Amino acid sequence: MSGLDLVAGERRGVFIGGQWRSAEGGEEFAVLDPADGSVLARVADAGVGDALEALDAAVAVQDEWARTPARTRGEVLRAAFELIAARADDLAELMSLEMGKTLAEAAGEVAYGNEFFRWFSEEAVRIHGRWMNNPAGGTRLLTLRKPVGPCLFVTPWNFPLAMGTRKIGPAIAAGCTMVVKPAEQTPLSMLALAQILAEAGLPAGVLNVVPTTRAAQVSAALQADDRLRKVSFTGSTAVGKLLVEQSADNLQRVSMELGGNAPFLVFADADLDAAVDGAMVAKMRNMGEACTAANRFLVHADVAEEFAGKLAERMSSLVVGRGQDEGTDVGPLIDEQAVESVDQLVTDAVHDGARVLTGGGVPEGPGYFYSPTVLLGVHPDSAINAEEIFGPVAPVVTFTDEAEAVRRANATEYGLASYVYTRDLARTIRLAESLEYGMVAVNTGLLSNPAAPFGGVKSSGFGREGGFEGIEEYLETTYVAIPADY
Ligand code: NAD
Repeated sequence: MSGLDLVAGERRGVFIGGQWRSAEGGEEFAVLDPADGSVLARVADAGVGDALEALDAAVAVQDEWARTPARTRGEVLRAAFELIAARADDLAELMSLEMGKTLAEAAGEVAYGNEFFRWFSEEAVRIHGRWMNNPAGGTRLLTLRKPVGPCLFVTPWNFPLAMGTRKIGPAIAAGCTMVVKPAEQTPLSMLALAQILAEAGLPAGVLNVVPTTRAAQVSAALQADDRLRKVSFTGSTAVGKLLVEQSADNLQRVSMELGGNAPFLVFADADLDAAVDGAMVAKMRNMGEACTAANRFLVHADVAEEFAGKLAERMSSLVVGRGQDEGTDVGPLIDEQAVESVDQLVTDAVHDGARVLTGGGVPEGPGYFYSPTVLLGVHPDSAINAEEIFGPVAPVVTFTDEAEAVRRANATEYGLASYVYTRDLARTIRLAESLEYGMVAVNTGLLSNPAAPFGGVKSSGFGREGGFEGIEEYLETTYVAIPADY
């Protein structure tokens, strides 16, 4: 068995009501290998009719799934967790092929994504309401928790599995049914996951998958249907805003995990070697193609040269190549447009006065590669500080005091992840309180954890995935008033 065997034959179709089948009209699209642009597989290209049939299937079993005991729902997730663990190598290979990340990174994502199934298999049985007496007397106040109802999930290409399991796990635990639309660049991991969930005992219709190149039409048609009750989206802020607008007509509940522009603050009192280690993780996880990726290195002027020099040394030693080749540290970016956009940001920064310490260019093709790059003396107003780079480039800007660092860190429309390196506890607390971010990592470059509430503020969206908070996105509250003498 190998990665592509997980999605052999009919499993490249749409998955609706527990059945694999071709898209209406038999349309298909090609999934490409970003390391050389070759065709990996052809997948069904769902149309609006397929999507609405997927919603029919989800609606048809919603009530029954909501009534299914929580223990049973949790056990389906637990069984899927075991199956994913058993097939982790093949899933990692499949993901590496369609997305480009190294096998080690892909294995990391499979393990991380799978932990959401374990976590929410445990949370399924802890959904409860409350009973209290009216403080003024006369009534009892009860609350019941109920699943929101049929959901639409739209996921991005950068984490093809984990961005799905963060939504699917809590939705299954809460008793919701769903239609999943994976990114067109990376639908294969989600198709493999659908098969695994079916084998784990998920009843037909609870999860339906519609790969498509017509994301806009499919989402618009589903959101225009008042049977859909919830939309959870991970992707760019521009598309997120559109989906929020589309949710207005039917007042669907929405969760939005959008773009980021993470600051990575290094103070003069920091352990610089630890900061460089953390920077490598925060910057280079997923080739920099992560919403949590450190986007702006804000470093105290006294240590900026030393920090940037050490970082450049580490970055220049990384091996760029095919994700499946042994020894590769950095795989290709997702497509040609991604390479062009990263290169443009670097060119502009250099034009504004930045010094290239390492990298700064596009290696010989084929494939969509970019050299790991460190820029020093980046002008604070350069576009690279305002936009999500989504590539292996570390721009370093200096500051001279804490107030300036906080002001610069918060000077962005985004508010997802932030990173702080300091040994001063009082400063740490001040920063956690003053940084306008949903997440603050202190002296670590890695904050994603299924047991923690992941999410952002401002243009990074709203809602949380993971932690105790994650299941709340899929539950409604019914308040029941009962007379005290009843
Ligand atoms: P994208 O917004 O282009 O695409 C995301 C998904 O939306 C894909 O499935 C795509 O097909 C779909 N889509 C595109 N246009 C649509 C439309 N008009 N209507 C409905 N669906 C549409 O984003 P991307 O380039 O795939 O992903 C990268 C972005 O995702 C970055 O901004 C990154 O920061 C963000 N992201 C955020 C998180 C988070 O948790 N906050 C996690 C990962 C990625």
